[in-house]
Amino acid sequence: MPPVRKHPQSHAVARARLVRVPPQVDGGTERVEAWVESHGVIGDMDLTLCHVCGIGVIEHVRVDLPHRRHGYGRRLIDTALAGSDLAWTTTSVTDEPAAQFWAAVAPDLRHTPRRCRHMPQAWDAQP
Ligand SMILES: [Zn+2]
Repeated sequence: MPPVRKHPQSHAVARARLVRVPPQVDGGTERVEAWVESHGVIGDMDLTLCHVCGIGVIEHVRVDLPHRRHGYGRRLIDTALAGSDLAWTTTSVTDEPAAQFWAAVAPDLRHTPRRCRHMPQAWDAQP
């Protein structure tokens, strides 16, 4: 089965509510949580953004195993990529399921994180 078929834009996605937990400082890491009624948080994504430099890094995306292949991961990534005019990169892929996921949802995304001088400063400033 081609990767794109395994990561569908499912009807189940409509049930998820995305909740943004913004970074405390510019260049800090924002969390986006996917909530499903009766389950709570079933997935999340961490984004490091710098609006000064116009770049964003998708640090991490995770969906709980029983909720995978319903389109939640795709919706999280689409939300990041569509929600701003930042230039996005993400971290390297270490396993085949992750490689298939990324090939299906964001095949053009670079897996070499591009960071700026503001990001490490923000990490130091976060409590
Ligand atoms: Zn910056």
